[in-house]
Amino acid sequence: MTALTIALSKGRILEESLPLLAQLGLEPAGDIDRLLRVPSRDRQVSLLIVRPADVPTYVEHGAADLGIVGKDVLMEHGGAALYEPLDLGIARCRLSVAAKKDGPRPDGVRRLRVATKYPAITRRHFAAKGEQVEIIKLYGSMELAPLVGLADLIVDLVATGGTLKANGLVEIETICEVTSRMVVNKAAMKMKHAAIRSLLDRIAAKVK
Ligand code: ATP
Ligand code: MG
Repeated sequence: MTALTIALSKGRILEESLPLLAQLGLEPAGDIDRLLRVPSRDRQVSLLIVRPADVPTYVEHGAADLGIVGKDVLMEHGGAALYEPLDLGIARCRLSVAAKKDGPRPDGVRRLRVATKYPAITRRHFAAKGEQVEIIKLYGSMELAPLVGLADLIVDLVATGGTLKANGLVEIETICEVTSRMVVNKAAMKMKHAAIRSLLDRIAAKVK
């Protein structure tokens, strides 16, 4: 048997990945709250617990053969160096533009300031509409930016809209729907083809 390594996105994607891994007999056999590398119940498959934004990097460089990562992270990273064979349908949300309920709306004259954790996606989105915006990179709590005048708009993930509403913000545009994807290292897909293909087939059968 061929040994495989899967990089998992720590946090909410990991939580939603665990039931799927369990169905495949790949649940962690170790303390995932403390360990960064754990064996799975199938000793041929080991798991890496990494920050979501780092998953594409681990897989691209072959430190992991496969990864589970949000489409938002893939779009921001640029997924061209990876295969993305499966939509797992988990950690579902959308990437949206939001503004203060009673705040200034885009008037096409003044250059708008947009706060986001996703500068590349944001730049592409507004450029495609012919709008030049000033992007303010933040690492979290984007909802705060319009409230304190740091930005006119935010680009952030929305699931229920509860956090936006609680902060007096409204969604004005959806950029895309987001779910978590299985990604595969391109060289591993060749070198470990049989093992990866059979794992992907087993996963596909569970997510249908
Ligand atoms: P880090 O802690 O390393 O900064 P993070 O805060 O982005 O990472 P999480 O919030 O646990 O980590 O996971 C974020 C991922 O979960 C997103 O990339 C997205 O794909 C997915 N996700 C699904 N629903 C939501 C939501 N409502 N809000 C944020 N992320 C969501
Ligand atoms: Mg976090």
